[in-house]
Amino acid sequence: MLHEVYYKAKMKAITFNVKNQLHRITSIIEDILALSAMMRGSYGDIYQRCGKPTCWCANTKEKGHLCTRLMWTDVNGVKTRSVREDDKQSVKNAVEQYHQYKKLRIMLRTEEKKLEELLTEFERNTTKTNKTKMGYL
Ligand SMILES: [Zn+2]
Repeated sequence: MLHEVYYKAKMKAITFNVKNQLHRITSIIEDILALSAMMRGSYGDIYQRCGKPTCWCANTKEKGHLCTRLMWTDVNGVKTRSVREDDKQSVKNAVEQYHQYKKLRIMLRTEEKKLEELLTEFERNTTKTNKTKMGYL
């Protein structure tokens, strides 16, 4: 029957697309898991006065000491810490990985949504095929 041929071909296409989508999702998750040096937060340089009255930075014409900070939020709110000179590069890389992580999470959500749509299509098509086979449902 023509119907059957059509549904079979459609089923094959759906199966292919679901598997393809799974590969895409797996690949994104693998990229996420590779970000093992990640640190959630934002990283930046700010000028800060140390508060010592005899320090050069006490002069109001001066902006203060250039200080690298890591800022993040946890259950208690916003946290900020100065980053030690030796750790600057590592922290910078860690935060860059976090940016990548966030992008990948957005990508993952999009691909997961597509998978959901494909599974709905699978459900619809399978139901239709099996009802058609019986001829009266
Ligand atoms: Zn100072």
